[in-house]
Amino acid sequence: MAGPGEGRPRLTRKLAGFGTTIFTEMTLLAAEAGAVNLAQGFPDFDGPELVKRAACRAVEAGQGQYAPSPGAPALRRAVARARARAAGPDYDPEACVTVGCGATEMVFAALLALCDPGDEVVLFEPYYDSYRAAVALAGATARVVRLAPPHFGFDPAALAAAFGEKTRAVVLNTPHNPTGKVFSRAELEAVAALCRRHDAVCVADEVYEHLVYEGEHLPISALPGMAERTITVSSMSKTFSLTGWRVGWALAPPDLSAALRCVHQFATFAAPTPLQLACAEALEQGEGEIARLRDTLRARRDRLARALADVGLEPYPVAGAYFICAGFGRYPFADDVDFCRFLTREVGVAAIPPSAFCEGKRPVDYARFVFCKRDETLRAAAERLARLPERARSRGAQGGPKPPGE
Ligand code: GLN
Repeated sequence: MAGPGEGRPRLTRKLAGFGTTIFTEMTLLAAEAGAVNLAQGFPDFDGPELVKRAACRAVEAGQGQYAPSPGAPALRRAVARARARAAGPDYDPEACVTVGCGATEMVFAALLALCDPGDEVVLFEPYYDSYRAAVALAGATARVVRLAPPHFGFDPAALAAAFGEKTRAVVLNTPHNPTGKVFSRAELEAVAALCRRHDAVCVADEVYEHLVYEGEHLPISALPGMAERTITVSSMSKTFSLTGWRVGWALAPPDLSAALRCVHQFATFAAPTPLQLACAEALEQGEGEIARLRDTLRARRDRLARALADVGLEPYPVAGAYFICAGFGRYPFADDVDFCRFLTREVGVAAIPPSAFCEGKRPVDYARFVFCKRDETLRAAAERLARLPERARSRGAQGGPKPPGE
């Protein structure tokens, strides 16, 4: 007889090979190496005072019990109003807004609600890792469309080929993690046309909607025929620098909202009540805070891009979100994992290898760095990055891998 743990693997086959997320892995490696963590995308500064005070007030007022499963009414109203001010269709807070534990839960609930085994979900690669796990847990199959550096555009023919009879949904993330790309109107129209043609749902992860530095964010739900087939997801995390609060939401027509709520009620039931109430206040009063954050992050993006370029890395253009991808093709590294490990351990700056966001962990020749950090953190990172040329040379001299063609 097999002893405990010796028989079937404990983890469902659906997640075999997924392992620990790259964020946890690189953050642990950064701590071990004493490196500046430009790997995991979270601000190392706190959210606005006005939001924190609202949460304290809600706790003290005794808001300690479950909110209604679809969300505290005050937050659902604030989400619908904020959306109506920005763009896109009008949403009825009762039937069309659902609050959950972060955008991650909302995307997860959407894909679990929509998919049956055998269904297909179209993803743009590199993709945020949790999408891929949700597709796997839903028993669906991922069809990936590559975004290629330096501009991370896609081939419209490849996108059309990824859609077919079995397509149930496409996950669209704009502004995009990990590349900082903001999808153009023409790109969104191509996605929308395929959704309409194949009767597919668009799960639009727009958590970086307010962090756009060039051009503008266009919600795909505002395109013709898309309001009725889009689940738009956003959250507090990036807009108010509160990634640990885990408050996110989904906007969708009543039939899609009902499907998503069915999963949400069994997954987490409801998000924390006092934090939902504080988020409602933030959305009603926080426009100034959002604009300040955007300006600060734009300057930090430029600062990090300069530091990367100064040491011979090639920062690709970034229109939004928290991230810069930079090519390391001038250095002698085997692949992105090799580069990121070396950079963390030997140079003292941690970055994410984007192969973690690609099918079969396909290697790439660029790495992802975050700039949602304090100026002093970015300054420390720049000082350490300055060691890269010398350290890479001495590694090369010790017989490390050579660049292709050498
Ligand atoms: N969204 C963050 C990033 O992309 C990290 C999220 C996480 O650690 N799960 O870096």
